[in-house]
Amino acid sequence: MKNREIEQGLRHEAKALLEQGKVDYIIGFEPGSLKFTTTPLITKDRDDINRLVINPFIVNNLSVYLTELKGRVGVVAKGCDSRSIVSLIQDKQIARDDIIIIGIPCPGLIDLSKVERLVDKDRDEVDDITMGGDGVVITVDGKVRDFPSTAVLFDNCLACELPTPQEYDILLGESSPLVTDKASSREGIETLEGMTQEQRWDFWEKEFSRCIRCYACRNVCPACFCERCFVEESEPQWISPVPRWQDNLIFQVIRNIHVAGRCTDCGECERACPVNIPLRSLTKEMYDIVDNLFHFRAGMDKEAAPLLTAYALEEAEDFIR
Ligand code: SF4
Ligand code: SF4
Ligand code: SF4
Repeated sequence: MKNREIEQGLRHEAKALLEQGKVDYIIGFEPGSLKFTTTPLITKDRDDINRLVINPFIVNNLSVYLTELKGRVGVVAKGCDSRSIVSLIQDKQIARDDIIIIGIPCPGLIDLSKVERLVDKDRDEVDDITMGGDGVVITVDGKVRDFPSTAVLFDNCLACELPTPQEYDILLGESSPLVTDKASSREGIETLEGMTQEQRWDFWEKEFSRCIRCYACRNVCPACFCERCFVEESEPQWISPVPRWQDNLIFQVIRNIHVAGRCTDCGECERACPVNIPLRSLTKEMYDIVDNLFHFRAGMDKEAAPLLTAYALEEAEDFIR
């Protein structure tokens, strides 16, 4: 099914949900103010529904808004977003009965930074980007060029384990084929793993010296749902509000521990970072550690207990038994 048909189906379903009073809000995407962007649309008004869009730029993980809205909500969900919704239900942050999941089979999303590098142009200078079949067609200065989709999809999409939601109330379209490339998706992580401890320390010192502590990474993350984040505590004050690199590093280390077993590798924290710190090198590494040690992947099994609330009799640590 083409995006245009999915978009029409979405508008039809969303309008019906509002008209029939089955939801108080619809959360989806509308065109952004910049080229090749979208922005979240949260509305109660059926006249807004014709603004809903589906395209390869629907980057936000919309489940992040579910903990903030009161009432019944219809939410557009890609595979990774649906995993975050399941994880939030398991953590009792939201109730399944309050949510109508409008599932979108996802063919992967386009990383504009990769497009810019491939065509050696700024995104504003690109005329058109379209996805079709296994590839992406990019038009610059009237010249049309084809690229394999693996060259332009976000790294996390290249490792996607659930492009089509398995938890949904409405599914628009059939399961979508997604060409993954797990090796490329882990390239940055492998480079870090190949470093000595000292080199890794120097790497992160350099990276976190650029952090401006805007908290975009935290704010876009559905797994970061504490009402009061430890970084805002003043008694005790865990880290300085001044963005020194050491405190920035501690912020990310603690954030990673908090989202362990909740992170679905949606890639939003890294994408939202305005200074391009490679945060996925930390979150995906933690995701893999959790998977390898506990055979747990967030939001994949809705019957599973949340990772940090479950224990087994054969736990290695005495204090848990
Ligand atoms: S991780 Fe999967 S579901 Fe999420 S945006 Fe990428 S391809 Fe789509
Ligand atoms: S989004 Fe980037 S700059 Fe902002 S707090 Fe997070 S790591 Fe720092
Ligand atoms: S930590 Fe990053 S990748 Fe993981 S769920 Fe949060 S925003 Fe998504």
